[in-house]
Amino acid sequence: MGQQLSDAVATLSGVGPARQKGLAELGINTIADLLTYYPFRYEDLQVKDVNEIADQEKVTLKGTVASEPVLARFGRKKNRLNFRLLIDHDVYMVTFFNQPYLMKQIETGQDLAVYGKWDATRSSLTGMKIINPNNADSAFGSIYPASKTVKQGTIQKMVKQAYELYAPIITDIVPAELRAKYRLLPRRQMIHDMHFPASQADSTAARRSATYEEFLLFQMQMQALKQTDATTNGIAITYDNERLKAFIKTLPFELTRAQKRVVNEICLDLKSPKHMNRLLQGDVGSGKTIVAAIVMYAAITAGYQAALMAPTEILAEQHADNLAQVFADTDVNVALLTGATKPAARKALLAALAAGEINLLIGTHALIQDGVAYANLGLVITDEQHRFGVNQRAAFRQKGGQPDTLAMTATPIPRTLAITAYGEMDVSEIDELPAGRQPIQTTWVRSNQANSALSFVHQQIDNGSQAYVVTPLIEESETLDVKNAEALSANLQEYFGTSVKVGLLHGRMKPEEKDTVMAAFKAGDIQLLVSTTVIEVGVDVKNATIMMIYDADRFGLAQLHQLRGRVGRGTKASYCILVADPKNQQGIERMQIMTQTTNGFVLAQKDLELRGAGDVLGVKQSGMPEFKVGDPIADLTVLQVAQQDAHAIVQQPDWQSQPNNQALAAYLSQKLAAVGTLD
Ligand code: ADP
Ligand code: MG
Repeated sequence: MGQQLSDAVATLSGVGPARQKGLAELGINTIADLLTYYPFRYEDLQVKDVNEIADQEKVTLKGTVASEPVLARFGRKKNRLNFRLLIDHDVYMVTFFNQPYLMKQIETGQDLAVYGKWDATRSSLTGMKIINPNNADSAFGSIYPASKTVKQGTIQKMVKQAYELYAPIITDIVPAELRAKYRLLPRRQMIHDMHFPASQADSTAARRSATYEEFLLFQMQMQALKQTDATTNGIAITYDNERLKAFIKTLPFELTRAQKRVVNEICLDLKSPKHMNRLLQGDVGSGKTIVAAIVMYAAITAGYQAALMAPTEILAEQHADNLAQVFADTDVNVALLTGATKPAARKALLAALAAGEINLLIGTHALIQDGVAYANLGLVITDEQHRFGVNQRAAFRQKGGQPDTLAMTATPIPRTLAITAYGEMDVSEIDELPAGRQPIQTTWVRSNQANSALSFVHQQIDNGSQAYVVTPLIEESETLDVKNAEALSANLQEYFGTSVKVGLLHGRMKPEEKDTVMAAFKAGDIQLLVSTTVIEVGVDVKNATIMMIYDADRFGLAQLHQLRGRVGRGTKASYCILVADPKNQQGIERMQIMTQTTNGFVLAQKDLELRGAGDVLGVKQSGMPEFKVGDPIADLTVLQVAQQDAHAIVQQPDWQSQPNNQALAAYLSQKLAAVGTLD
């Protein structure tokens, strides 16, 4: 009654202001967001036969409790709960660490199912949880991306609560004829089976439907924007060619042939009254930033403002510093706006922006928030486009005018794929690196050889170089990522002693702390920077020549390529050291290919070959726009089909008022209305 999927999550019980904030950080604001906050993997909780499981496999075993549970405390806060489980006449030891409260749930003689990790040599199970056979919803435990403030268990409970309360009003969005054509599940069932599948087959079917839905909605947004582009005029930015040429002459280097070509392509678009919607592709280190600077300068000479949006604060800061230097001798007034900008500074900045005094604004998502008004925005550039959602283009449009848009990405994906994935954009490509670059030498070592690699790092630092050390990736928890990074930096500081200053950088640090660390690294006061993947994109410190990546096999090839691209940005010889003990042939091949090529296209192709279609984590690693379920590479055909379907829909005269499309139209208009109000 009166319930809507657009209700705020705060309507659920147990969601106060603090939790609401934590959820918002995960992108969950409404019930609809929560229901489509899909698990990224499932734990198989089905009971397994003890004779058919492998060492270290995570399994559920079922048996009869054969001894009183015994709780032993050790250390200051640690404890261990032991009991024996009888399975088919054999007895196995089960151990739970630091879950003393489970004691109450375990009684001798009782049948019990335990999920945990199997140790084959000791014939014992390290328990992770007790499975209650009576109220298990499904044989699969859904695992969601969690955060420091919102824990796994909380998300699981909230999704369940939301589904129970709102299931009756979940209705279909995809038009009926398309659902019939592709045999898609009704939306309610799809959402149910995404979260609570009863079998592998159920989850696969749900994922298939969810992928199509996600891609169709994405393509509809793109098509709707395209239609607006076609029917409204863009702006003709008549820039001052003489001033532009003079500016290019002041640069400290000669542009590469490829840079010159793409500058020309973009400038033609600027001049034309047609709306520019262009993708600029160029491998890491190919020099996209300076291209952005040149074309933004062009727009500014024509009296327009330009905006440059980056996905991280670190990168936005870097662009602001760098461009302030590049434009030092011009009348370009550069300003930086991020989530970290203090209220008073923000207020002054917004006034100057609205008055047109600032003509180049650089920042993060903060650029498209409510309250940010431009005097006459002519050109918008997004850096590392694949890190943004699909809405940012529409959001800029609501800032008034019809700014030309340029999206930059290092993603080495084939042109046809890029066009589909980014919604039919024009594509420019920088296909060569600046002269004088030395290829980065990549080596792969096993973790027991990490020490000799470290002594090489030490030598290089003694010779005046700087190094990045990237810590392993733990997909499920940022908290663990941070702990890891802290531990590693402490270890390394101890290992190197006082001769090397080790710094630490991670996503949980305050913006000021991040700045201080980055500035110290740039200045050479920190010689070795331990970091999580926050440095993955864009960071440019020329004196850094070593990139060492721990547990490199946990990263995708595209991601490793990006990380490696943080070095080799000057003329010094650079090195990438991958530390990994891959567990299978595929992992070995992935490490080998990294040592064999630095060509992003070759790596992307290889990534595609090596990754299976079922790899749900692949989306993040592919460097394509981020989708919740669909993988634009593995599910490319679905993406293409969705594009054709969306195209066909918007071709229908008055498509919004056709009965079949009602739900779709309502969804889209709601989505567009929400853009710009949400960060
Ligand atoms: P990316 O394309 O990865 O964003 P950047 O724009 O950060 O690359 O450029 C990488 C480095 O190369 C920067 O330090 C930049 O100053 C430098 N650079 C860019 N273009 C040239 C060029 N034509 N000649 C020499 N160095 C260049
Ligand atoms: Mg860049």
